[in-house]
Amino acid sequence: MRASLRKGSCVAAVTADRNAVGALKGLGRAVILLGPPGAGKGTQAQRIAKRYELPHLSTGDMFRDHIQRGTELGKKAKPLMERGELVPDEIVLGMVEDRINQPDCANGFVFDGFPRTLPQADDLERICRNNRLGCTIVLHMVVDHALLMRRLTGRRICKAGGHIYNVYNRPPKVEGVCDFDGSELIHRADDSEGVIGERLAAYDRQTVPLVEYYTDRGLLSPIDGMAEADTVTESISRILDGAKAAR
Ligand code: ADP
Repeated sequence: MRASLRKGSCVAAVTADRNAVGALKGLGRAVILLGPPGAGKGTQAQRIAKRYELPHLSTGDMFRDHIQRGTELGKKAKPLMERGELVPDEIVLGMVEDRINQPDCANGFVFDGFPRTLPQADDLERICRNNRLGCTIVLHMVVDHALLMRRLTGRRICKAGGHIYNVYNRPPKVEGVCDFDGSELIHRADDSEGVIGERLAAYDRQTVPLVEYYTDRGLLSPIDGMAEADTVTESISRILDGAKAAR
């Protein structure tokens, strides 16, 4: 039986599907963190990935890796990212499909930063169906713009492990140094005020339509992203524990 996107039929279809191949680790589903830049997607994705033993995928990290390695894809993405614009779908889609088709994603994954456009959402659904994953779980992180600005301008990221800090409310013990691995903390170039405005505008224009797309399919769970990080993790865990129990 195929996992279906029709409301109401999702859980039963997924359960039958997964039982057919035996008990598996992970959730057997794609977990999508949807929200504006600075909503806390990266922080929560890291925590969910650990708790549910799922790979953490981030298109932003994939692009930054390509840029660092100087690949053709990285050369195309770099100027767009520096201006706060989205990378075109045709570049994003091949890269994402290759990653999701890796064996570690067979039992589900947590995606932070994808999908960001309607064609990307359609493509993700196609890939999940092909890979016999259950219905996508979309966690919509809701945060107002003033708080986003503060979070983004204060954000610092560890170079080695991607651990996330904020100089205003989650500083490292030693300034500029990661508590976990001692590596340097960097301020992303696109976390400057000028670029943040464009990133938020791109979000409103191209990504906000996904809220309706996933609501219509009965897949969206709103999350209060203004709360403390631990409180947000608890809200998300309740939803994912429920999904796991229903398998
Ligand atoms: P944030 O969510 O905080 O904006 P990311 O690290 O997810 O940061 O993304 C950084 C940049 O990478 C985006 O501004 C955009 O240029 C590009 N990018 C990331 N994901 C996508 C995507 N799915 N589609 C198009 N561009 C993307």
